[in-house]
Amino acid sequence: MTILVTGGAGFIGGNFVLDWLAGREETVVNLDALTYAGNLETLHSVRTKPNHVFAHGDIGDRELVAKLLRSHRPRAIVNFAAESHVDRSIHGPGDFIQTNIVGTFNLLECAREYWNGLESGEREAFRFLHVSTDEVYGTLQAEDPPFAETKRYEPNSPYSASKAASDHLVRAWHHTYGLPVLTTNCSNNYGPYHFPEKLIPLVILNALAGKPLPIYGDGRQVRDWLYVKDHCSAIRRVLEAGKPGETYNVGGWNEKTNLEVVSAICGILDQLKPRADGQAYREQIQFVADRPGHDRRYAIDARKLERELGWKPAETFDSGIRKTVEWYLSNPDWIEHVSNGSYRDWLDKHYG
Ligand code: NAD
Repeated sequence: MTILVTGGAGFIGGNFVLDWLAGREETVVNLDALTYAGNLETLHSVRTKPNHVFAHGDIGDRELVAKLLRSHRPRAIVNFAAESHVDRSIHGPGDFIQTNIVGTFNLLECAREYWNGLESGEREAFRFLHVSTDEVYGTLQAEDPPFAETKRYEPNSPYSASKAASDHLVRAWHHTYGLPVLTTNCSNNYGPYHFPEKLIPLVILNALAGKPLPIYGDGRQVRDWLYVKDHCSAIRRVLEAGKPGETYNVGGWNEKTNLEVVSAICGILDQLKPRADGQAYREQIQFVADRPGHDRRYAIDARKLERELGWKPAETFDSGIRKTVEWYLSNPDWIEHVSNGSYRDWLDKHYG
């Protein structure tokens, strides 16, 4: 048996592939374009595993995707591939439209053609799981209930608009063509192998380097945080038991302001790696101009997934953030390579 994972050299896809291969013999075909956010060094430990097949390419490449489906005959596709950074989407939305919308469209068309050609048993078992975000729901006021799956889509950034469009395409391919799709909408992830442009790794690395810890606006924007391994376990559970055509919100009931997140990291670093001058890391916090259209609050109601599929996160925010800081402290090579771009050389050396 085989699954096709797209974007499996990125942050969440990479964690998903590592966890999957640690627990199963089943082959993972990993299709990734290796944009700036894709890093094969994350997958170093599974490089020589016979059940990890890496395919360098674009989800928008119809011939390539069709060929991978024909030759590996996966029982499922899990689509992580995306442009995922909100700030980058503000400065250059084109790639977001191309990968998140046109790329997903291409993947759906290839999946439909492949699925139509399967024998009836395989057809019934096949799943297309689309990994999406809570940002499609828009923003919440302090008094609003968390996002449920029934919440109207109100995306506010080019990133969330492109993800919303892809979610709609996935939904339509189920309703129009019967493709057995599943969609997950997850809150903010954190954990190992996170590209250092995102808040949590950025703060850890800047703190250790003695640089300012930038916080947008007043730092009171609320995000709902989930440890990446818990997101991966939710995706496995939805793949296993989710009902085709349904969407499942994934979250850990961990609403935190950005200031609280940064303060928590500073507190852990104060314990694990105190500053040489004896000062607290929070001295490095610096408030910077807010991002345009910055959503105030996201919060996820994950009760459907908990109730219908029995999923629960294993980590609390306190345990997950401590593990994350510990991981960054014990993996300086990964961080150095990703920060200075030398993982590209590493890639050439190992993969030619
Ligand atoms: P990421 O940016 O770290 O990784 C994306 C991966 O996709 C990279 O390896 C990149 O090389 C690859 N990729 C990009 N364009 C591609 C293309 N055209 N063809 C093939 N591969 C391509 O992103 P992430 O944080 O791991 O997010 C993965 C998915 O989860 C995304 O769909 C994102 O919207 C969703 N999501 C992310 C979060 C979060 O907090 N990071 C939360 C909820 C949902």
